[in-house]
Order: sequence, then structure tokens, then C-alpha cells
Amino acid sequence: MNQLSLEFIQGLKNIFPEGGLSLKPEEFPAFWLDRSTLKPQAPLAIAWAERAGQVAALLKLCNEARVPVTARGAGTSLEGNSIPSEGGIVLSLERMNQVLEIMPQDFEVRLQPGVVYDELNRQLAPHRLFFAPGPSSGDTATVGGMIGNNAGGLNALRYGVTRNHVIRLQVALADGSLLWYGTQALKTSAGFDLVQLMVGSEGMLGIVTEIVLRLQALPQRRTALAQFKTVEAAAQAVFEIMSTGIVPGALELIDASCIHYVNIYKGWEWEETPTLLMEFHGAPAGTDSEVSTARRACESLGATKFLLAENEAMAEQLWAGRKEITNAEKALYPNHAILNGDIAVPLSKYAATIHFAKEAGEAKGMPMTLFGHAGDGNIHCHVLVPPNVPGAQAKGEEVYSQIIRYALAAGGTVSAEHGIGLAKKEFLVEEHGEAVEVMRKIKRALDPNNILNPDKMFH
Ligand SMILES: Cc1cc2nc3c(=O)[nH]c(=O)nc-3n(C[C@H](O)[C@H](O)[C@H](O)COP(=O)(O)OP(=O)(O)OC[C@H]3O[C@@H](n4cnc5c(N)ncnc54)[C@H](O)[C@@H]3O)c2cc1C
Repeated sequence: MNQLSLEFIQGLKNIFPEGGLSLKPEEFPAFWLDRSTLKPQAPLAIAWAERAGQVAALLKLCNEARVPVTARGAGTSLEGNSIPSEGGIVLSLERMNQVLEIMPQDFEVRLQPGVVYDELNRQLAPHRLFFAPGPSSGDTATVGGMIGNNAGGLNALRYGVTRNHVIRLQVALADGSLLWYGTQALKTSAGFDLVQLMVGSEGMLGIVTEIVLRLQALPQRRTALAQFKTVEAAAQAVFEIMSTGIVPGALELIDASCIHYVNIYKGWEWEETPTLLMEFHGAPAGTDSEVSTARRACESLGATKFLLAENEAMAEQLWAGRKEITNAEKALYPNHAILNGDIAVPLSKYAATIHFAKEAGEAKGMPMTLFGHAGDGNIHCHVLVPPNVPGAQAKGEEVYSQIIRYALAAGGTVSAEHGIGLAKKEFLVEEHGEAVEVMRKIKRALDPNNILNPDKMFH
């Protein structure tokens, strides 16, 4: 379908008042894409919900007319997850952006799905609480979108990814019913876990209209940097630190090539060797002792440098190196397509996987960046494909696929935190085999007319 019927348009107008609906999507090109470099897709209409009842009514309308709906938070996905489905409409949740109830005594918060991650934490800070995962896109990404993708981030090592914090959800189902899943108790064994089924479902099983999250007490933080001669030594240090019993707030590995790009981009002079960035969370006496233990672990593996940030400003400067990687690659390789690797492997395979990825890129002469949440075995591996160079796309895809298949053979996953979207469908099957059919059955049971983001995840 490439046109909406007059009856359907009238139905949309009945649900969404003036200003809440656009039938001229050409005026909103940002809604045609996400932050991947995949092909944009124009929707037939865009609706902005302000209430759960509108979401439910829209799904009922779309279900009856068999019109696809793609839920959208901030559209910062990296795999095409929030690119509109062909012949469908976009439902934006960005106006459902209220923090409804902070419950400090319960370490919980109730909120709407369009609340931006950093804004939530700004509102929680006076209560000495925070929502922990820490995606690097936290200044833009919405909590609804984090649930859609089961987002992770810098602090997931210590506190878990999004799914470890979501305890209750209000969900609009494909048929237009509006239900609550889960409980506000911190543990439950009552029935199938429908909340967890929703997390990471990429808007394909229902649309989240209200959320209850569990929270953590805001810790004090210490930041340190360690540098090594080889990536193997850096990866071994990750293992040594974790085996002392410390669970760092963050433990990131940055490959020498990333530091090289950031040095050029920012005019810095960081030593271009494999680097670990760490954060230790807790009360000061505890973090002092953790820093000393981590320092000893790094030095025992021949660290060439161990630097402890003396204050907040210095900590921010150290983290800036990590945060500038994607800006640097975009500035140095303008107009390049980015093939976004987001693998995770068991910790014992981390060093070998990084080594393999580097060699695979070098063998094909493809520029690449490698960095990641080393503490939980996650490697972001960006293969940069030049525009208009014959054969470059095929070469890039070969490198990208080789790295993913290496990770799968090592017992890992194709996506640690970005989801499958449009870009990684074939690897979902390689990872899960026949279990993908169980996923399809769940999809069919909850969305028999296949209207919810229907072109994602499965071929
Ligand atoms: C610079 C940059 C850094 C990033 N860093 C990280 C990182 O550190 N960790 C990480 O995990 N990801 C990261 N990402 C990826 C992305 O930001 C996250 O996946 C984020 O959680 C997406 O949020 P969003 O609001 O943009 O969601 P969107 O892209 O709008 O949507 C994500 C998915 O959820 C669905 N969805 C949206 N809202 C709802 C809802 N209310 N109910 C049901 N489904 C819904 C959508 O249909 C889509 O499938 C990064 C992206 C960028 C551009």
C-alpha cells in the first residue's frame, strides 16, 4: 500500500487533534531514518501521541486497516530499528515525556516512554537516585526506545542493561487493548515474564505507554586510565581486575586506532596504545581501595601508564577521549557508510576477537574503529566504507560478516545492545537457529496481522 484511504485518514484525525498529525511526511525527513547509514523510508503519515488512549486507539485503527506502525522515541537506533516500515505510519512517543512519580522509598520511578535518559537522571539526582545503564546517546535517547532495543551502556557492567531495571509496563497491544504487565515488587515468580518479553522487542509486540523502573542510589565515582603495549595485555587486565572481585562502574577498552583518530580530530597527543578507561563506584574508602587493586592488576600486566583523575574536570577529560570516537571517525571519513558491529563474546575470547577483527580489517585495507564495554565482553567495531569506490561495500561487508561469524563461533552474540533492526536479520538466524521460529510464533500470537514494525528482525 502506498496511499492511505480517506476513511483511515478520517480515523487518524478523530484520534489526533490538529498539531498531532502530519499527512505531509515530506516536511519531516528526520522521521524517515534512524542514525544508521541505511536507506531512508518515507512514512505515509506521522502521529504524535500525548496519551496512552491515543496509542491504543491508533493500533486498533491500524489493525483493522492492516496499516503498519513504527513506534519512535528519538530515532537514535543504529540498525534501522526505527526506520518506518514501507506503506506505514510513524507513531512518535516524544511528547509523552513526563516523569510521573518518583518513589525514593521504593527506589522506583513511574514515567512516560518519551522521557529522555539524561533528563530522567537530572530529575532523579536531587533524590540521590539514578537509572544506571548509561548509553552514550543518553542526551537524546528515550527510555521507551531503550526498552525497545534493550539498550546497554557504560554502566551496564555493574548495574545491568535496560532489562535489569524494568519492572512494570503499560502496553498497547496490536488489537488496541491497553494492559499492565509486571509488578512493583522487586521480585516475582508469578507467571510468564511479559515485561521481559517486551524488552528488546523493537516495537514489534506492543507499544509501551507507561513504565516503572527500579533505580540505584547515586554513587561517588573515581575515574582512571591505564595504557598497555598490546591489546592482549589490556584485555587480560580486564580479566585480572574482575577476578579480584571488583565490579567497576565502567570498564572500557579503546583500541590504538581510535586514539589515533581522536588525536588527529582534537589535536591531542594521547599515547596511541590500547587503553582501558575505568570508573569505580561507591563510598570513598571503598573506591580508594578498588583503585589500588586495579592499579596493581594493570601494572602486573606491564601497563605503561596508570592515571587516576584527581577531580571531576580531569575525569571528564579522560572520558572525552571515549566520547569523541564516533565524532572523529565521521569527521575523518566523511560520507562513509558505517557497518556497525556490536558483538559480545565470553570474556576469555575478548582479546582474540579484537585481534581477529583488526587483522580482518587490515587484510582488506578497510579503515575501522574498535572500542567497547570490555568488562562485559562487548566490542563495537565500525567498518568505514568509502562512497563511490567500486567493490568497497562488498569488501566492507565481508570484513563485517567475518567478525560477526567469529564472535558467534566463540559463543558470542551478533548484538550486545543495538538490536537486529533491518541490518542484522541473517545473523539472528545464525545465532539462534530454530529458536527464531519460536520468536516468530510469539510475534504471530501477539500481532496476527503483522502491523507492528513488521519488516524488522525477521527475513
Ligand atoms: C551516538 C550514539 C551512541 C549510542 N550509544 C549507545 C550505547 O552506548 N548503548 C546502546 O545500547 N545504544 C546506543 N546507541 C543506540 C541507541 O541510541 C539506543 O538503542 C537507544 O536506546 C534508542 O533510543 P531511541 O529513543 O532513539 O529509540 P528509537 O530509535 O526511536 O527506537 C528504538 C526501537 O524501539 C522501538 N520503540 C520506540 N519507542 C517505543 C515504545 N514506546 N514502545 C515500544 N517500542 C518502542 C522502535 O520502534 C525501535 O524499534 C547509540 C546511538 C548513537 C547515535
